[in-house]
Amino acid sequence: MDYNHLADLLFPDVTETPADMEARYPARQLPEGAKVTRFAPSPTGFVHFGGLFPTTVAERLSHQSGGVLFLRIEDTDAKREVPGAAEGLIKTLARYGIHFDEGAILDSEGKVADHGDYGPYKQSLRGPIYHVFAKQLVREGKAYPCFTTEEELEELQQVNKKEELKNTDWEAQAASRRAEMLKSREITLEEVEAHLRAGDPFVLRILSDGDGEKRVKATDLIKGNLDIPENDEDFVLLKSDGIPTYHFAHAVDDHLMGTTHVIRGEEWLPSLAKHLQLFRYLGFKLPKYMHIAQIMRLDENGNKKKLSKRDMGANMDDYTRMGYSPEAVCEYVMTLLNSNYEEWRMQNPDKPYTDFPFNIKKMSVSGCLFDFDKLNDVSKNVLSRMDAAQVTAGVTDWAQQFDPEFGALLARDSAYAEQIFAIGRGGKKPRKDLATWADAKPYMGFFYDELFALEEGYDEKFDRADIKATLARFLESYDEADEMTVWFDKVKDIARSLGYADDMKAYKADPTAFKGSVADISMFLRVAVTGKQNAPDLYTVMHILGRERTEARIKAMIERIG
Ligand code: GLU
Repeated sequence: MDYNHLADLLFPDVTETPADMEARYPARQLPEGAKVTRFAPSPTGFVHFGGLFPTTVAERLSHQSGGVLFLRIEDTDAKREVPGAAEGLIKTLARYGIHFDEGAILDSEGKVADHGDYGPYKQSLRGPIYHVFAKQLVREGKAYPCFTTEEELEELQQVNKKEELKNTDWEAQAASRRAEMLKSREITLEEVEAHLRAGDPFVLRILSDGDGEKRVKATDLIKGNLDIPENDEDFVLLKSDGIPTYHFAHAVDDHLMGTTHVIRGEEWLPSLAKHLQLFRYLGFKLPKYMHIAQIMRLDENGNKKKLSKRDMGANMDDYTRMGYSPEAVCEYVMTLLNSNYEEWRMQNPDKPYTDFPFNIKKMSVSGCLFDFDKLNDVSKNVLSRMDAAQVTAGVTDWAQQFDPEFGALLARDSAYAEQIFAIGRGGKKPRKDLATWADAKPYMGFFYDELFALEEGYDEKFDRADIKATLARFLESYDEADEMTVWFDKVKDIARSLGYADDMKAYKADPTAFKGSVADISMFLRVAVTGKQNAPDLYTVMHILGRERTEARIKAMIERIG
């Protein structure tokens, strides 16, 4: 076979060579050890938690090493493309600290546009580049055309599907596929010419030199040394419309774009043998691979299941809606990614997570478990470290979008909101009341008369006369200028006067000697002022509300009791 001739027949318009491509995309000039990583999504929809995960690894490894993170849009499957998905994806990732240095990023009008010297970064625009390498492979006898029409292919797929349904002999199927391949391998130049003259479409297949009985060694930076069967399948490089498959595009793009670390989902691991073969055929240096295990979750019965696209918490937009701050989500992702992260955080409570020395060796080999309880825990810690202004801004922004009435109340007087969120903040042991911005309303809504609501059932086990007396006596002696200790002494006085213990120790020693304790008296006041049995420090609450509103609420309660 005259392969040069075959190559010219198949790719008459391709005049450039791989050397031209290498010249157009020279090796990057980066400091020693700098990593070049990428996120390579298919623009088919929202960002999945399982997508943020490897992307955070890519972001950390590149930026931590002074390297480059770029975004490549893998849109070779036009049927699956969702318009606007790429834009949405870039914005979502930006919320979670993923900023691309290069690639298909947004221009000033919010449209996806190329930025960088290694583009185009959208695979659909790289057709001619793939064809240069495809032609070279044909020239070297490493790839060949297969003139099976779309219809024939579809038919084959139908047959395969039926066979799958019947769950018949896989080996027989593989053997029949191989026979098909071998037949195509023997195509003659004359046959090719005849097909091309007739305008028949073809796919380009690799001519595999592998032996499925033999094994090849590979390294995965997370899983370690691998020993996998060689690829013996003449897999497709170019589809009949000339568009590359994932395998071919991966090799050409990651080579020309200078990717040093391919960080991708574990579902690509079974294809690794194909990629090893392809890089070897093309004479490309192999990048380092990291295959990230699927995120798992626990189902109702406590069994581990894959976090599927439909599960709560899979879509990154869920977090926005639920009111998780991006900082908290990033923090959670870091705790999942590196086993020593939480320890580092304890020692470095105030540093940004980007200061943490991310380490591939500390990654879990078997995969991580997604868990809302843990996320909430992490989130409470993160929010407790924020200052009042940050929390006010976070809650207000969230509420304006998802709870506009509440949002309007907060925005009406942000200095007031900030006073509220300042309660218990700062110091060694900040309050951890909020896991999400959405938790704010139940926690502090009572500060707004519009949202004040009385919790039911608090008074059932108490003497209503005692409640009323407490409130009345408090009003008699209340002085807003009192220091906290003076204020509390007055509350104790009321307790004593009503036969309640003013000292918790005394009460615990002999509860039967009292009607209750000063804690109950405080509770009567708390419920009157906040509507709730659980609320932040009452002395502070009263000061923020101001004397007038405090007294008005207490009076309203007295009237209610009647
Ligand atoms: N487009 C592929 C995917 O979305 C990219 C895999 C990779 O990172 O190489 O799964």
